[in-house]
Amino acid sequence: MLRNDVQKLVVVDNLWTGLFENISHIRDPRFHFVKSDVETLQTSEKFDEIYHLASPASPPWYMKEPKRTISANLLGAFRLLDLLKKGGRFGYTSSSEIYGDPLVSPQPESYKGQVDCTGPRSSYDESKRCTEALLFEMQRTKGLNVKVIRPFNIYGPRTRPDDGRAVSNFVTQALSGRPITVFGDGKQSRSWGYVDDIVDGFARYFWINETDYKGPLNIGNDREITVLEVAKYVSKLVGGVPIVFEPSPPQDPTNRRPDLTRAYAVMPEWSCKVSYEQGVAMTLDWFREKIKAGAA
Ligand code: UDP
Repeated sequence: MLRNDVQKLVVVDNLWTGLFENISHIRDPRFHFVKSDVETLQTSEKFDEIYHLASPASPPWYMKEPKRTISANLLGAFRLLDLLKKGGRFGYTSSSEIYGDPLVSPQPESYKGQVDCTGPRSSYDESKRCTEALLFEMQRTKGLNVKVIRPFNIYGPRTRPDDGRAVSNFVTQALSGRPITVFGDGKQSRSWGYVDDIVDGFARYFWINETDYKGPLNIGNDREITVLEVAKYVSKLVGGVPIVFEPSPPQDPTNRRPDLTRAYAVMPEWSCKVSYEQGVAMTLDWFREKIKAGAA
């Protein structure tokens, strides 16, 4: 979605979990890339709009470096707030993880969640929650123009092969002839959102749609599917790769599904267009091409 009104776009990334090859094709002269941790970004510029997406999102990555994860989210928000022009807009990607292991389904934005602040996922859950607290308190006390999104399980092309989340793991395992690893019994469920649909939602809430709504917004696909079903589908697509069961990661949430009532009210023309069957197949095709290109 083109933004013809933008004069300059500065993308800041330390490439901790991202890959430079995902942006190396961009030729727009307004685009500038700075390799830096967001919380120590050195610049004398101020910006009209800032979108803070800096954080690992894959459990094995954030569990490995919890302090750095908290720093990226929370101290990142502190640093970026300093760089916002007065009256500017601040967008933040929180997470459906702030609902923890939910006791209500689907989860509306008003659900307070079930999170363990001493648990192994807390660096992610709690830093997302605390950053939301910071931003909504800035909104309440200083009138900050803030837009907070809570995305639900995004997947798709351009995920790094060693990312460790379910869909990319299953696809890379299947394509390399390794068994698909299902953690636990696979009955736990998620609502899998294809990247294009979710990014479309980001763009609409962050800058396209005019709205008076000032709260956090769920963005995701509300079709809930078990992990085992995804594994079986990937296995079928590649002609029957075996599925093996491994121990669950600690405090693995049992279910997750967005209540999208609010999202549809704020963005009436938005919906997820890509079914999980199509999305997983497209992700598989993308990884297959990538492996082929790498081997050539
Ligand atoms: N999962 C799995 N095998 C894998 C990777 C993940 O069974 O190789 C499971 C994981 O235990 C969780 C679900 O898939 O129940 C989604 O995990 P993911 O890391 O993609 O996202 P999460 O929702 O946990 O942040």
